[in-house]
Amino acid sequence: MSELILRIALPSPLRRLFDYRAPAGLSNAQLQPGMRLRVSFGRREVIGVLVEIADHSDVPADKLKPALQLLDAQSPLPAPMLRLCLWTAQYYQHSLGDTLSWALPVLLRQGEPAQLRQERYWKVAADAQPDDPRLQRAPRQREALRTLAQHPHGVAHQLLSQLQLSRDSLELLQEKGLVEIETRCSAPREHHGGWLAQAELPLNAEQLSACNAIRCGLNKFNAYLLAGVTGSGKTEVYLQLIRQTLEAGKQALVLIPEINLGPQTLERFTRRFNARIVLLHSAINDRERLDAWLAARDGEADIIIGTRSALFTPMKHPGLIIVDEEHDASYKQQEGLRYHARDLALVRAHQENIPIVLGSATPSLESLHNAHSGRYALLRMTQRAGAAQPPRFLRLDIKSRPLDSGISGPLQQAIAQTLNAGQQVLVFLNRRGFAPTLLCHDCGWISQCKHCDARMTLHQRSAELRCHHCGHSQRQPKACPDCGKVDLRPVGAGTERAEERLGILFPQFPVLRVDRDSTSRKGSMDTLFHTIQRGEPCILVGTQMLAKGHHFPRVTLVAILDADAGLFSADFRASEHMAQLIVQVAGRAGRAEEPGRVIIQSHLADHPLLVQLTEQGYFAFAEQALSERRSAALPPFSHLALLRADAQQPGQAEEFLGKACSTAEQLLAGIHAHGVELLGPVPAPMERRAGRHRAQLLLQASNRASLHRLLTPWLQALEQLPGSRSVRWSLDVDPIDLF
Ligand code: ADP
Ligand code: ZN
Ligand code: ZN
Repeated sequence: MSELILRIALPSPLRRLFDYRAPAGLSNAQLQPGMRLRVSFGRREVIGVLVEIADHSDVPADKLKPALQLLDAQSPLPAPMLRLCLWTAQYYQHSLGDTLSWALPVLLRQGEPAQLRQERYWKVAADAQPDDPRLQRAPRQREALRTLAQHPHGVAHQLLSQLQLSRDSLELLQEKGLVEIETRCSAPREHHGGWLAQAELPLNAEQLSACNAIRCGLNKFNAYLLAGVTGSGKTEVYLQLIRQTLEAGKQALVLIPEINLGPQTLERFTRRFNARIVLLHSAINDRERLDAWLAARDGEADIIIGTRSALFTPMKHPGLIIVDEEHDASYKQQEGLRYHARDLALVRAHQENIPIVLGSATPSLESLHNAHSGRYALLRMTQRAGAAQPPRFLRLDIKSRPLDSGISGPLQQAIAQTLNAGQQVLVFLNRRGFAPTLLCHDCGWISQCKHCDARMTLHQRSAELRCHHCGHSQRQPKACPDCGKVDLRPVGAGTERAEERLGILFPQFPVLRVDRDSTSRKGSMDTLFHTIQRGEPCILVGTQMLAKGHHFPRVTLVAILDADAGLFSADFRASEHMAQLIVQVAGRAGRAEEPGRVIIQSHLADHPLLVQLTEQGYFAFAEQALSERRSAALPPFSHLALLRADAQQPGQAEEFLGKACSTAEQLLAGIHAHGVELLGPVPAPMERRAGRHRAQLLLQASNRASLHRLLTPWLQALEQLPGSRSVRWSLDVDPIDLF
């Protein structure tokens, strides 16, 4: 009789499956891919996921161990999810076991049962009468029965006390047969005659044609790029498409870039729909995450809203995927499994044969290229919905103008004028802290981080110097650590400094700062937004957190303090990101009746890129940028993979990458792959970070298939290279950040 061999993915960085014998007494019929098993692995016990069942193994019979325990009676992981994870692991050259660890809720990986929690619900029995004669002398029971009767679907046991329902009374009622207990998963959907809790807005012509175009393709895979200017009513289009999806008995998955947008989005969706909506993001606890995941998998949730990792939420009746702000860099995970949730969302939509809508006012060049080549249908919305007008741009040349904490005279006047007109101002500066550097005016000492090739940022409020790259911090020195003089000066301005200065310049108006430092406390973002929504004149100062999707109806002036960084950077994506940021921040201006204006301070106010962007708009800019990418053979006209390495000792990482490079050259010759270039190894742009020495090797390919033909054997070879254990290394397929 042939043996039953289980090929299992384990939480290990090794890119392979591990063979085990089936636990005693289990037959083939009881096993399905996706089931979890407990196995011994080295000296530990771990939980793995069954991927394949085989009848032989290359592992010698005496080394082959039986798996210890099967944890599931049926696979917790629906087949489409397992397939997506297999694809992801293969494409990003990541171990499948580790890929599953990123994709699955923590509690599932720890062996928690993969079933929705059953709850006990108390409800009034079908034939109970409120004036039952047996209750004449029992006022408390009568009262309890009346309260319970207000909840036709019953009251969850754990909510009894909140409703002041006494358990004793309920038990007495139960003995009389007037009340009963039902055990089930969650409250059934409350249907007040349809999915809509609120009337839909009548669509304008552009919205209508976008909606109609997508509606025609709602029952199969189709990819749409909804390129609508900020405020053009993309969200309204999403909502109406989702309504149709729900009416067809299907579920919708909505990805959003930023957890801070969660509450706002959730509120808009709950106001619109009588539907079960779950919100998945990094701040919910493990139990909530598992419950939401299970509810989606079992069809108990109708709409799933979440950030990046919500992409891996299974759906019983998948109907539609929406990726809002598809250009946003936060869709790319920058550690461990370096996946791009937008790209994977496309793969998923294709695998599940459902439509996908990518929405943005500033589409990524990748997506625009896909639209040009016909892979996506391009739907444009060029007008703001409702009464709002597009904002006007002013490029303010600050060459040789005095700056007061980064704020020029003309900008100060514009701010004063806006505040005095009773309106709000948004000041954008993509730099946290008080100042990016502290300098000794006497000897030239600068606040260098001792672990990184970077400067420490001054955070004056907390009186410390902090490195934004490794997290190292120290007290703010009173005197120069080198020469002892007391003339330390902050150089440059961050949000904290702008906030302080604006407070002094405009003492009669509140100044609110929005960045990672000011919003780290739970709920602080909500408080801020409520203040802003109240609409009184104020100044908002913040980083890109402010740029994303928020609706601030009373902001009529947006000021961008420093647009220069994006024009100088060595990163080929810097100008794209800067253009997106400018347009997105500008999109916060004048979203209601009063028109908005945008002032951009720059030393390069006549830079062709800025001129084109502000005078002809994002699309003109993007076409120009795409043609530059084409002539430089940069993505999306070529494909990149970046092998990064870092090590304790200088030179170690480069040595490892040197060997990796020759291995790749040999492999390339062997597989006759053309058009793959190896660039490097070179020291990383920030050579030392958190005390480790870093280097990188870039692969650039004109053809994606050639690149991937190389990657699989290469990564296997890398795992075997001497030094592969003493050097920390990782591969980034389609990197968006070359640093
Ligand atoms: P986007 O998602 O493109 O930024 P929103 O969907 O948030 O735009 O819409 C911007 C504003 O316009 C919102 O206040 C919204 O209620 C309003 N709006 C959207 N569509 C319409 C419409 N068809 N008629 C009137 N107002 C609309
Ligand atoms: Zn000094
Ligand atoms: Zn550092």
